[in-house]
Amino acid sequence: MSEAFSNDPETTAALQRRDAAHHIHPFTDTGALNAEGSRVIVGGDGCWITDSDGNRLLDGMSGLWCVQIGHGRREIADAVHRQMSDLSYYNTFFKTTHKPAIDLAEKLARIAPSHLNHVFFTGSGSESNDTVIRMVRTYWDLKGKPEKKTIISRWNAYHGSTIGGASLGGMRAMHGQGGLPIPGIAFVPQPYWFGEGGELDPDAFGVWAARELAHAIEAHGPEKIAAFIAEPIQGAGGVIIPPETYWPEIKQICDRYDILLVVDEVITGFGRLGKWFGSEVFGLKPDLMPIAKGLSSGYLPIGGVMVSDRVADTFIEEGGEFFHGFTYSGHPACCAAALENLRILEEEGVVERAADIAPYLAERWLALGDHPLVGEARIKGLMGALELVPAKPSRSIRFDNEGEVGTMCRDFSLRNGLVMRAVRDSMIIAPPLVITREEVDELATRARKTLDDTLDKLQRDGRM
Ligand code: PMP
Repeated sequence: MSEAFSNDPETTAALQRRDAAHHIHPFTDTGALNAEGSRVIVGGDGCWITDSDGNRLLDGMSGLWCVQIGHGRREIADAVHRQMSDLSYYNTFFKTTHKPAIDLAEKLARIAPSHLNHVFFTGSGSESNDTVIRMVRTYWDLKGKPEKKTIISRWNAYHGSTIGGASLGGMRAMHGQGGLPIPGIAFVPQPYWFGEGGELDPDAFGVWAARELAHAIEAHGPEKIAAFIAEPIQGAGGVIIPPETYWPEIKQICDRYDILLVVDEVITGFGRLGKWFGSEVFGLKPDLMPIAKGLSSGYLPIGGVMVSDRVADTFIEEGGEFFHGFTYSGHPACCAAALENLRILEEEGVVERAADIAPYLAERWLALGDHPLVGEARIKGLMGALELVPAKPSRSIRFDNEGEVGTMCRDFSLRNGLVMRAVRDSMIIAPPLVITREEVDELATRARKTLDDTLDKLQRDGRM
């Protein structure tokens, strides 16, 4: 046990017992977890986290896709401390505001694509997407087209866990819990070539998937369709990088039918793809752009919806009161954390550094594609996936009991000191943007060892 833990007499087992007694974990079979015991994280520094047994793990997931600047930056704690000492909380309702909210709104307008000059603050990505539903529908009401209410999303999209967010998302397991989606949400196929491309080549599949949006609009009646929402690259769905033909076709379709384009940048915002926003990478002009995560590098919870001039002008000039808001919309301490995070991103050139390291990470990650377990290695910017398959190069033969092999591989990865996430039977990475070349080497070495361990286990079990 290292120095840092010697003062803490509470053992991992004791912490796990107390956790099991009172804590229901998100996206977890808490019963199963309690039988096994949760990993207890006690510290974070740069790209590394430390657990209660003193193990250091390379955080290949930036927490939950959010810790752009790495863990443990003292400057953020100091900025939050200063803000809390001056004004720990005040709301932004009832004709009031405060400097951190003003500064952050102004800064976001400067950083975001040039037509996005307003922000509505929220506490999370889910709240941002709930805000999207209400803004989109209110926008069309204000435009005198109240029949335009349906929002089209994609199967296997992730837009959050609130009733609104989970309805916009295309996760069937989530819909199954709680009677979702809410009315007025429709779904089209995702541009997931490896899993669903069939005999088409990626480019032809990209066009096909995009045109499914046009077909859905026609089927519902264009006069009823309010918006299309999508992540530039699906994150929680398994780092689904659309074929290059996909986004240009989608853009044309949104223009043709005059529907709003909502680009969910909760993961892809703030440098994840080597530019400030994924919209810049794919040449998109969102009408609304939900953000969260990298906005504060996860140091404190804050999100928002960036609002285009088109939508903002309508609300401000014709909207009257928008009956929507959260106690913590523009929370001063969270704004202070975000401002300091943005300062670090800008002054330390973190987004440019991400763009610089991305080709090397891609080289090391794509090389894992030669492993017998890996059907496809893909990566864009600092988001990558490995598809695990039993009978390479077949894309259609997958492991029985979907998710079991992915979870096994994830557990090996943790044992090898690397945090990767399993989505079904694919392994996902999204490391901090400050990852160094040496850390990329470490990540690749640990990932390969993890694949070897998984293959070995599958062979011993007679599954490969
Ligand atoms: N949108 C996207 C694209 C996300 O990835 C997430 C979270 N993973 C959300 C929305 C929801 O964000 P939150 O968990 O902060 O509510």
